[in-house]
Amino acid sequence: MKRILITGAAGFLGSHLCDRFVHEGYDVIGMDNFITGDQKNLQHLENHPHFEFIRHDVTEFVSVEGPLDYILHFASPASPIDYLKIPIQTLKVGSLGTHNLLGLAKAKKARILIASTSEVYGDPLVHPQTEAYYGNVNCIGPRGVYDEAKRFQEAITMAYHRVHGLETRIVRIFNTYGPRMRLNDGRVIPAFMGQALRGEDLTVFGDGSQTRSFCYVDDQVEGIYRLLFSNYSEPVNIGNPNEISIRSFADEIIKLTGTKQKVIYKDLPVNDPMQRQPDITLAKKILNWEPKVDRAEGLKITYNYFKDLSKEELYKTEHKDFTKFNNK
Ligand code: NAD
Ligand code: UDP
Repeated sequence: MKRILITGAAGFLGSHLCDRFVHEGYDVIGMDNFITGDQKNLQHLENHPHFEFIRHDVTEFVSVEGPLDYILHFASPASPIDYLKIPIQTLKVGSLGTHNLLGLAKAKKARILIASTSEVYGDPLVHPQTEAYYGNVNCIGPRGVYDEAKRFQEAITMAYHRVHGLETRIVRIFNTYGPRMRLNDGRVIPAFMGQALRGEDLTVFGDGSQTRSFCYVDDQVEGIYRLLFSNYSEPVNIGNPNEISIRSFADEIIKLTGTKQKVIYKDLPVNDPMQRQPDITLAKKILNWEPKVDRAEGLKITYNYFKDLSKEELYKTEHKDFTKFNNK
């Protein structure tokens, strides 16, 4: 039986990846320090004979007993309010954490896939974004802690590939959503849905003309799965090219949730990218992959998930006032 280590396992994407690999018959080791994740995302796997969990901060030396065939490195804060709140941990997990996991992969002769992001393109001057685009990132801006950590992560991964011949894969993930996102993590989908459920106005940042392209989690997991088993070692975009402005997106959420609240406008966060749309020509060609779940369907599933959460979850205050992390 093949063994796989998944870091960031208690998070949104990590927990879905644990499910997929357990389902495919792998021995899965999940690793997380719960800094932005939640134990309950893994509760259903607790007594599974092919799942084990190690609580560990991957910025410290990572040790796993026994053989390992694959590593998926997904540990990292991913929401702007998370990485603005914990910028140093974000830089460390992308740099020191990635270095530790590359070292582990080398020692175990395992193949490693690292989770990169569309943020490596920054506020892009090329649209849609192809993998060949080098990006437009402000390294000293507030978002720079995340963007540069991920750019460093890609650079050191390619270096391990070139110098040590390590089998590496890099996925550039574009905005992905679905069940198990934290309702209060500040990303736009949980933010709008949480506001609708609490009877609050929907906060659009800036004039809402900035665009995003949202990918449903099952499509993302399928793309990552195919990439891991491909023989392509350079970065690959995985995302849904269906682009929408945030203003129109707020209207979609109003329609979906039936909320009577209105849209209100807040300051646009510094360096908030004005447009984002993946060019997925490469993924189509080498992975024979493209997204299957349309936004209406994915949003309905996600909204039903949030609706079923407890009142306590809905009113958790941790990050509730995310607008305070905007500009100041
Ligand atoms: P998430 O916050 O739900 O999950 C991240 C997980 O990593 C959490 O469980 C957190 O506790 C864990 N973690 C963070 N630092 C750690 C450390 N030092 N040691 C151990 N565990 C640690 O976020 P997500 O949306 O699931 O994102 C997962 C990965 O995918 C991240 O690397 C993120 O950059 C990348 N990504 C996600 C998206 C998206 O739209 N969801 C887009 C681009 C990239
Ligand atoms: N956004 C918004 N209102 C919110 C939360 C986010 O208008 O309550 C905007 C944000 O400024 C950005 C887009 O929605 O332009 C997507 O933000 P998110 O935090 O989900 O991810 P990003 O793609 O910026 O990393």
